[in-house]
Amino acid sequence: MPIYEYKCTDCNKVFEMFFKSYSSSKTPECTFCESSQVSKIISSVTFNVKSNSDAGYFSDSSNIGKHVEQSFSKHGLEMPDSVRKNIDNARKGKMPKGLDI
Ligand SMILES: [Zn+2]
Repeated sequence: MPIYEYKCTDCNKVFEMFFKSYSSSKTPECTFCESSQVSKIISSVTFNVKSNSDAGYFSDSSNIGKHVEQSFSKHGLEMPDSVRKNIDNARKGKMPKGLDI
């Protein structure tokens, strides 16, 4: 069950969305103001080591994916092997291929 984090561009709040599957076409809506003007932020937080805003944080490769790990443990979910593998690869400098982010 993928968990994505979004930022609402209307009220600037960050919220998480659960999807039943990776192919889900559910449109994310802000849980605070119900705006659909949201942007997915998990990609920049998780995998984009070249992220400009958090360059210092992500120059330490062990921080890559930490947020995802915390999201899973926070919700008491077991991290799927595929996610685990993507994070491990990202930490080794290999960006996952075909990732829908
Ligand atoms: Zn909002």
